[in-house]
Amino acid sequence: MRRIAILGSTGSIGTQALDVAARHSDRFQVTALVAHSSSDRLFEQVRAFRPQIAALTVEPASIPEDIKDACEWMFGEDVLLRVVRACDADDVLVSVVGIAGLAAVMEALSCGKRVLLANKEPLVAGGELVTEAARKAGHPLLPVDSEHSAIFQCLQGAGGNRPERLILTASGGPFRTWSREAIYTATKEQALKHPNWSMGRKITIDSASMMNKALEVIEARWLFDMPAERIDVLIHPQSVIHSMVEYADGAVMAQLGTPDMRLPILYAMSWPERLPTGGKRLDFEALSALTFEKPDLNRFPGLGLAYQALACGGTMSAILNGANEIAVDAFLHDRIRFGQIAQLVEETMASVPVTQHPTLEQVFESDLKARARAKELLATSRFAI
Ligand code: NDP
Ligand code: MG
Repeated sequence: MRRIAILGSTGSIGTQALDVAARHSDRFQVTALVAHSSSDRLFEQVRAFRPQIAALTVEPASIPEDIKDACEWMFGEDVLLRVVRACDADDVLVSVVGIAGLAAVMEALSCGKRVLLANKEPLVAGGELVTEAARKAGHPLLPVDSEHSAIFQCLQGAGGNRPERLILTASGGPFRTWSREAIYTATKEQALKHPNWSMGRKITIDSASMMNKALEVIEARWLFDMPAERIDVLIHPQSVIHSMVEYADGAVMAQLGTPDMRLPILYAMSWPERLPTGGKRLDFEALSALTFEKPDLNRFPGLGLAYQALACGGTMSAILNGANEIAVDAFLHDRIRFGQIAQLVEETMASVPVTQHPTLEQVFESDLKARARAKELLATSRFAI
């Protein structure tokens, strides 16, 4: 029986993790549930899973009588850290959004808990520190992001052979075939319609701009200790191949499956064992074709920024991430055009100083400076709609 804490339990990844935990209730015990403000959803989850701790950053007006004494309740801005410290979990699934998960990831590792990582922004912002902390803790970071889970799966049984190249696949998102001009003025509704995956709003916008793939290139650099020039991105609109690994002899290993996050979530939870997810199986006879395209950096300039950030090193990836969080939020609040997301990130990257080999405090400092600079730029006439 593995005891698991779920940070971000009411979100897209969190609810799917609870779905697989319920399916395998003989294997997983949910010990902590944490969300931001979705209190009604959290109350339902407490009724169903009876955790040791339930927590929200925003305190609800009241807790329903029937579950008031069912568990320990925690509220406030710092609940992620408090829950990580107090819960008696073996594993912590970090599935909150944005850099908010970074301190919790570091705390979980320093408490000796295993980290199952869906939340990619902590690795983007603080990859060097997070991977070093995992090494010291003696636990592998178990990737939940489907591409990184695919690579992790392709590396099982590699017998010490290091891959020569990682190939991250990308669906291309809803604007794969659109012109640069049309993408520039795409609406929120258009950007929120992902062709293959149903996910939270932030990652859905990132997928449409391909900034998600930029974050994933940086994530892969740290998870697999691979230099950026050996990480390729390949558009594969069917999302059947979730990513690939190429070895010295030219052999390419790929992981295939239907686009269903429950597989990578459950694989991280049960690794190295494989358990049924309850999802659909891949039907090869029903697949008409698997196709591949080179990504177009002219139409999706955000992707190129990942390689620039990695070439620069230090806190540049944290600056990219912080600026992107502000840009996505501004787009979702109708303050900028879709095409201005990458523009805002690029301009912020050009004007915030970088710290090499940062401490955790310096990562947060760069993140705050990037956010402040992005907001300053947003207030200029160039970013007015
Ligand atoms: P959602 O927006 O659907 O869910 C986010 C969850 O985190 C919610 O439970 C939310 O609570 C909670 N939350 C947000 N901020 C805080 C905070 N500061 N403290 C406590 N809880 C918080 O996001 P997704 O599930 O889509 O994504 C989660 C992470 O996983 C992201 O980093 C994303 O990039 C990554 N990921 C997601 C995939 C997917 O398929 N969805 C695929 C691969 C990676 P509330 O409901 O109360 O707001
Ligand atoms: Mg992904």
